[in-house]
Amino acid sequence: MRGKRWVAVVCALASVGCAAGTPPSGGGAAPAASGGPAAPAASVSVSPAVTQPAVLPSTRPKPTATWRSALAQEPVTTPFTVDGVVLVNRVHPLASSYVPPWAGQPNGLAPEASAALKLMAADAKARGMTLKVRSGYRSYAQQASSYANARTEYDAVTLDLYFAKAGMSEHQTGLAVDLTDAAGRRGDAFLGTPEARYLNEHATDFGFIIRYPLNGTEITGYAWEPWHVRYVGPEIAAHFAQHPGLTLEEYLGQA
Ligand SMILES: [Zn+2]
Repeated sequence: MRGKRWVAVVCALASVGCAAGTPPSGGGAAPAASGGPAAPAASVSVSPAVTQPAVLPSTRPKPTATWRSALAQEPVTTPFTVDGVVLVNRVHPLASSYVPPWAGQPNGLAPEASAALKLMAADAKARGMTLKVRSGYRSYAQQASSYANARTEYDAVTLDLYFAKAGMSEHQTGLAVDLTDAAGRRGDAFLGTPEARYLNEHATDFGFIIRYPLNGTEITGYAWEPWHVRYVGPEIAAHFAQHPGLTLEEYLGQA
């Protein structure tokens, strides 16, 4: 783990993360969720392993990393947390029985995440852009179903990089959300849109982070997903704003 730990407490909300995504041409989907109150990160000083280019590419580079599946832990019925921050990924999966308390709310998002998303969408709108929710909370069963479908369409390597097995998607936490533009562009079609640039520059202003940054596959286990944002709260997000390309795994000392 690189970096140090902050002291603060976070997230009263338990949730699960999501991972899983959209294949090269925009197929599957995976829910994500993040959420919870964020912890103060004033003392944190974690730098990213990979830096981000000034201008994001208009196509997604094919990730070459393969996931270290041997690291995977047993699914848990309560989300794994570090200093109160929920971390759900291929290493820390959720059990099928985990359903966040806000699953019945709009898009199944945690209240803090939902409120922040409204503010962000309003800000984007004021700048002439539209952010639409494609997918928020995704149940374990939904993940299992989409993974099963993806299995019939993609080879094992692609499947592993772009889709989460059930329980390994941050979307099960209701703290993450996949967004599109007004036309519903997603996957590779979303790259290069003003909305993609907006999220890259401003999501952190509202407490969200780009959960799967460009070139972060080796750490996150997932391909770059500029449309998938995870709510971590304003303090933690502010740290990410200063360190483009940082992953939540690195920040929490779990990389
Ligand atoms: Zn997602």
